[in-house]
Amino acid sequence: MNPQTALHSAESAEQARTADPAARIYLNLIGGVWVPARSGRTFENRNPARPSDLIGTFPESGREDVEAAVQAASRAFKTWRLVPAPRRAEAIYRAAEILRDRKEALARAMTREMGKVLAETRGDVQEAIDMAYYIAAEGRRLFGVTAPSELPHKFAMSIRQPMGVCGLITPWNFPMAIPSWKIFPALVSGNTVVIKPATDTPASAHHLVEILVEAGVPEGVVNVVHGGGSAVGVPLTESAGVSMISFTGSSEVGKMIAERTAGSLKRLSLELGGKNAQIVLEDADLDLAVDGALWGAFGTTGQRCTATSRLIVTRSVHDEMVSRLVERAGKLRLGDGLEPGIDIGPVVNRGQRDRVHAYVEIGKAEGAKLVTGGSPAEDGALAQGHFYKPTIFDHVTPAMRIAVEEIFGPVLSVITVSSFEEAIQVLNGTPYGLSSSIYTADVNRAMRAIRDIEAGITYVNGPTIGAEVQLPFGGVKETGNGHREGGPTVIDAFTEWKSVYIDYSGKLQKAQIDR
Ligand code: NAD
Repeated sequence: MNPQTALHSAESAEQARTADPAARIYLNLIGGVWVPARSGRTFENRNPARPSDLIGTFPESGREDVEAAVQAASRAFKTWRLVPAPRRAEAIYRAAEILRDRKEALARAMTREMGKVLAETRGDVQEAIDMAYYIAAEGRRLFGVTAPSELPHKFAMSIRQPMGVCGLITPWNFPMAIPSWKIFPALVSGNTVVIKPATDTPASAHHLVEILVEAGVPEGVVNVVHGGGSAVGVPLTESAGVSMISFTGSSEVGKMIAERTAGSLKRLSLELGGKNAQIVLEDADLDLAVDGALWGAFGTTGQRCTATSRLIVTRSVHDEMVSRLVERAGKLRLGDGLEPGIDIGPVVNRGQRDRVHAYVEIGKAEGAKLVTGGSPAEDGALAQGHFYKPTIFDHVTPAMRIAVEEIFGPVLSVITVSSFEEAIQVLNGTPYGLSSSIYTADVNRAMRAIRDIEAGITYVNGPTIGAEVQLPFGGVKETGNGHREGGPTVIDAFTEWKSVYIDYSGKLQKAQIDR
């Protein structure tokens, strides 16, 4: 079969429905052809608000599918790297326009597969749109550096070069935004990619890849291989044909990938877990601080890497903050995120809900005081899905596991401190360092917090969530390995520097010697 015919027949095969008329059969994209897993096996993608709702089936791929995709990406790299960057950017700009036009449908599909409420999935798609426009402009920058040479008649500059095939591994909590942060900068820089989306949210990443194909990205430049962490993620990180891995996910898996790739010394960009805190000082606007804590802790059902997991309050505002938070948390409406008026959707799957509940049990056993929530929400229609009540623990001490470990669910731990200095010390007292926030009217203390907090992101009088694409994104300590995806720094993650010296003196000139 010639590749063109294969593309069309596979495309129509992909539109095929499973036995469930609402469900779709999705395929891998390898070298411009939509194909099933070589094994023929598939896995299901279901709606976490109503698991009886089957969204579709996806290829349960393995090492040979990964290798085929890496080879296709390597072949495509030979020509894609030579396409002028402004031309590469045009395809991304077209993708931005398509994303913008289909925002509502893409957001609805995302709520169906991931659970977060429609306003938030619209935001997730918007982030992909923002990133596409931002990175498309980068096609006319990709700035290098020129510097004067120390020798006469000699020119010196440094330029950015693509790395080759990038392996991209993404989590489920930002199903389109995170793939977009990686695919767009990788492509504009002249790389080709193989992406492995999370198995809980494969459809949103898949829709993004389809849009890139529609926008005119040549075959083999973007490849998608669906499947699990061990079966697809591991071979992708091990493949000799992959020059760099960009991974967003848990610190636990990030460390395993770091160990596995150490021998090959391939570039590794890691964006990992967080245990983010909001500080509220005695001079804070408490209305603002309560709004921020609720949004930070319970938005996206607490499943953001930047979610507010700890609330550090000074003693004089403790009682009022806790009573207001408990009252407001009790009024949050849980349900299917596609329905109007819902504040909080389900947790992404049953295992994750059980994990959240296990941490609640740990908190109780450690002696923290459960002041609201603390159990799955199973009233009426909620019983069908993986819902968990917004949960607040008071009287948490900094050493408790619920104050140190990432829970990744709707659980907020309140810690009381006596001073600004103690608040900063407690905030810094975890292995993570992603996002942070301080509510205060005192500019001097705000500035000291910006200086002394150990985190990649600090908000003043805003919650720990809400990053914008044009700024560097990432964290310190066990949140990453020093790269920043997002902002101008994302280009550093996806390019190699080359320094170039051009001697037009017509004679041998020796640096550091001919002075
Ligand atoms: P996860 O680490 O379990 O999985 C992330 C991805 O890695 C998935 O695609 C998974 O299939 C794959 N994977 C799993 N094991 C692998 C292995 N051994 N080798 C290669 N790939 C493997 O994380 P998750 O549960 O999907 O997402 C939640 C985590 O992601 C949280 O810890 C959260 O803080 C973190 N996160 C971080 C950021 C950030 O930018 N810092 C953003 C979002 C989420």
